[in-house]
Amino acid sequence: MLDTLKQRGYRVVGPTVRDQAIVYDDIASLKSLPAGWTDEQDGGRYRLARRDDDALFGYAVGPHSWKKFLLPPIQRLWQAERTPDGVQVTPEPASTERFAFIGVRSCELHAIAIQDRVLLEGAYVDPHYRARREGAFIVAVNCGQAGGTCFCTSMNTGPKAEAGFDLALTELLTGGEHLFLTEAGTDAGQALLAELPHRAATQGEIEAAKAVVARTAASMGREMRADDVHDLLLHNLDHPRWDNVAERCLSCGNCTMVCPTCFCTSAEDSSDLAGVETSRSRRWDSCFTMDLSYIHGGSVRPTTHSRYRQWMTHKLATWVDQFGSSGCVGCGRCITWCPVAIDITEEVRAIRDSEPH
Ligand code: SF4
Ligand code: SF4
Repeated sequence: MLDTLKQRGYRVVGPTVRDQAIVYDDIASLKSLPAGWTDEQDGGRYRLARRDDDALFGYAVGPHSWKKFLLPPIQRLWQAERTPDGVQVTPEPASTERFAFIGVRSCELHAIAIQDRVLLEGAYVDPHYRARREGAFIVAVNCGQAGGTCFCTSMNTGPKAEAGFDLALTELLTGGEHLFLTEAGTDAGQALLAELPHRAATQGEIEAAKAVVARTAASMGREMRADDVHDLLLHNLDHPRWDNVAERCLSCGNCTMVCPTCFCTSAEDSSDLAGVETSRSRRWDSCFTMDLSYIHGGSVRPTTHSRYRQWMTHKLATWVDQFGSSGCVGCGRCITWCPVAIDITEEVRAIRDSEPH
C-alpha cells in the first residue's frame, strides 16, 4: 500500500518513533512504522513501552495530529517587494502536495471534519487548507487499545472509524498471523484496494475485528458526561472551580497546540533591514496567550482564570453554538501533554459534582 501510494504521487505520512514519542512524519517504508511499540499515558505523563507482539498500530495517539499537515504551524500568506515601479505583492500559491495519511484514528477523523466545518464550510474558505485537504487520501485504523487519557466513547467519536476515510484497517494478530481487515470508504479507496494483494475476509476475521473495537471501547482511560455539558458550563461561569484551576494552570498553551481541533492563528509581518522585501505569515496561536485577545488598550482576558474558562467553555459549549458540534473529540492529548496534569474530564466533573441537585 505504501509503495502504491508513493507511485501515485502521494507524500506518505504516518506514525514513527522519534524523540521517545510516536509522532507523524514521512514514512519511507514499513520499517518506519512503530512496530512493537505502545504508549502509556496519564495526566502529564507519556512513555513509550515495548509490546509483546509486532503490532504496527498498537498505541493510542501521540503529541502530533494531522492538523500539522493540513493547517501547518507556520504558513506564509504573501511576500512584497519594493521595486522602481512600486510595491509588488505576490500571494503565496496554494500547496500542490497530495498527502496520504496512514493510521488516522476515529477521533482524528472527527477532528478533521470539525476543522473542515471551520475552515471550508463557513463564510470564509481558507485556500491553503482547502488545497491540502482536498488532495488527501486517508487510511484510518480502528483502535486496538485505548490510551490512559482517551475518552472518545463519551464524545461519540470512536473507537471505530465510521466515515471520512478512503480505507479503514483493523489490525489482527491472532494464531501467528498478522492481518489487516480492510474496509473501503470511497471509490478512491476501493480502487487502491483493487491494486493490492487481498482476499475476502472470513466471518471469523470479521468477528475478530469487531471484538478488537469492542475491547478498546470497554477500556477507555477516561470518561466525561457530555450530554448536558453545554448548559452546565454556561450556567457556571462564576463557579469557584475556575479559580482553583487557575492556581494550577501555567497558561503555557500546550493543550491548544496538541489539540487536533484548535485552529486559532495570528498574523506576523517581517521585513528585511533594507526595507525592500517583506512578508506576512500566520502561525498557530493560543487563547492562553495575552496577545490573542489584545484589542486597543489591553487584553480582554488578562487572567489565567479567564483564559482557561474561555478555552474550556469554547471547546465544550460555545463551539456547539458556533459550529454545531462539540470542539472536543476526546483524544486526551490536552490531559497527557499538560505539564501539571490538568484534566478536562476532571474539571467538568468537579463543576457538576458541586452543582446543587
Ligand atoms: S480538548 Fe483535549 S481531549 Fe478534546 S480534542 Fe482537544 S486535545 Fe483532545
Ligand atoms: S491547562 Fe495545562 S497545558 Fe493548558 S495552558 Fe494550562 S498548564 Fe498549559
